[in-house]
Amino acid sequence: MKYNNINKELDNLAEILLNPQQNFYIWGAGIAGKNFLQHFNLLKIHIKGFIDSDKEKIGTRIENLYIYSEDVLKEDIKAIIIVATLDFVEEIEKSLIKLGKEENKSFFYSNVFLSIYKMYSEEKLYMHHLNVHITDRCTLKCQDCSVFMGCRNNPQDIGLNEIKLNIDLYFRWVDFVQELHLIGGEPLMNHDLIEIVEYIGSRYRNNICEFAIATNGTILPSQELIKVCRKYNVFFTISDYSQSSVFYKRNKVNQICKLLNNNYVFYRLSDKSIWLDFGNPKRCLHLNENILREKFTTCFFRNRVMYKNKLYYCHRQVAAIWSNLTNDDEEAFFNMEHNVNKRTLMQFDLGYNQKGYLDFCNYCNGYERVNKNFIKAAKQIDLKVLNYD
Ligand code: SF4
Repeated sequence: MKYNNINKELDNLAEILLNPQQNFYIWGAGIAGKNFLQHFNLLKIHIKGFIDSDKEKIGTRIENLYIYSEDVLKEDIKAIIIVATLDFVEEIEKSLIKLGKEENKSFFYSNVFLSIYKMYSEEKLYMHHLNVHITDRCTLKCQDCSVFMGCRNNPQDIGLNEIKLNIDLYFRWVDFVQELHLIGGEPLMNHDLIEIVEYIGSRYRNNICEFAIATNGTILPSQELIKVCRKYNVFFTISDYSQSSVFYKRNKVNQICKLLNNNYVFYRLSDKSIWLDFGNPKRCLHLNENILREKFTTCFFRNRVMYKNKLYYCHRQVAAIWSNLTNDDEEAFFNMEHNVNKRTLMQFDLGYNQKGYLDFCNYCNGYERVNKNFIKAAKQIDLKVLNYD
């Protein structure tokens, strides 16, 4: 989105959201919806109930709140909807649009709602997601790696001091982050991983809802790592590439799951047989400014990255910068070193900047909401033949 009124961009919206007469419904009576209700102090708004399309749930209650079908919105036409679910998001969005609702006016995704609500009711900065990139090294050499790991000539771990500095800087301004994920490359290759988890866990665990390590399922976690993960309630997100014919021999997903189960460490397993085709980062799509603004707003990519004291909006773009595939872009980052205005930082996190898009959007097909091109996941390459020119 393009700034119209810097630092005050969301004032009008906040007034509506904090109006004590305003009714709200939470769409999604599953885990995400329950977490949303239970983990955040939402006392200043009037939640009338949940909405869900599962017929078995309709008519039951969560914490005294009734679960309705979407038909309730035909009667309560002025109600605002907070979408708090990870599943069927596209279908829900279509239903809401059909009911005359508009995104960021009469329906909100829970992360957007929470950012505005927490800032305007408590002056607290809430963010949805931070990826902490801890190594360029990886056990796989994927041709279509979304963060261009195959382009690194001399992949290294990111220095421990640099990681600590970036984390400290982030939490100097950010009060709470919903998800903090350690990523790579393959994070389990980083020699300092246990110390990184200990550092973040001991200082900032209360500022993080979900603390996770993202692994490609090729390395068994050590007992020491498991111990520190249990201490700080860190879970694993495991990508299962067993469908990739080249790669299946290195797959240790079953062993990892068994080990984590035996040690009471939580994990999420995702079947990754397909990936999005993000396109060639050197090939310009020649989109005009209006289309770029629309694309950037709709893509609404949520994963921010701290890198060299700056918070980058788009992980894909910052990875292209690391790999010398694109240049730095003024709209791409928020400098966290200087005195930060929390409201301006919140607006940056919600997708506001001077141009209303990133230059790199012209070299990228985007994430799921704007991109339906899929390719086979984790196709392995000979590094020497990877060439984007
Ligand atoms: S279109 Fe690409 S570069 Fe632009 S925000 Fe989405 S993922 Fe990032």
